[in-house]
Amino acid sequence: MQISPGAAGTADGARRSRAPARRPTLARAPGACRICGDATAFGYGLCLSCRAVALALGRPLVPVTAIRVVSPESGLYRALRQYKSGEPSVAHRQEQRLTAILDAFCRRHLPALAPGGLDLSVVVPSARAQRPPPHPLARVVASAAHLPPHRDVLGAGPGMADHRQPALDAYQADPCVAGKRVLVVDDVYTSGAHLQSAAATLHDAGAASVVALVIGRYDRGARSERSGAGRRRRWPAAPQGSG
Ligand SMILES: [Zn+2]
Repeated sequence: MQISPGAAGTADGARRSRAPARRPTLARAPGACRICGDATAFGYGLCLSCRAVALALGRPLVPVTAIRVVSPESGLYRALRQYKSGEPSVAHRQEQRLTAILDAFCRRHLPALAPGGLDLSVVVPSARAQRPPPHPLARVVASAAHLPPHRDVLGAGPGMADHRQPALDAYQADPCVAGKRVLVVDDVYTSGAHLQSAAATLHDAGAASVVALVIGRYDRGARSERSGAGRRRRWPAAPQGSG
């Protein structure tokens, strides 16, 4: 079952920055990428990153719903960095914040995203394997009451996905996902290489359907626009592990 795309959201921290507030919506804006909701060049249905990832992966991509659009100025961007690598009390607080955001979104929108229901949730494993399990995102997903049960059925594979470079062997799925309707969750969507590699792995393992949800879609347009306007200013890198 293919789920209609939903996406786009609000630049978090609008009260603290001058970014205009945009409410989350499940509808794509006109001209938005059919997969991730980012802006596209005129005449294209997919953005540059999604075209590159689809070409490298050699198969159609899974539409992705993003709860928010994040930029380096936003509070949610900080949360998405700190919940994995911040000082323990800060990481814990940010983890709770992300759980609340994810749970509230799923309570309201998950029935529309997956009208046939979902059997389980998985998270995209960390691209960097130094962190012992469980992944902090797995705790976030497991703590969110309105998500399907979290199952640790997706692990790192021998390959490596990177920015705009998906890899079918970057992940491996437990055979128990066969026939299951799976919600795959990631924290940050940048090019989609990691999440789309994970979704492809789940499909190859026989999942009946894969619905993709991310907490934040990185605002690629804002970064390139600003870096072009002010070359002397250094912008922070995308949150670690995003791709
Ligand atoms: Zn896209």
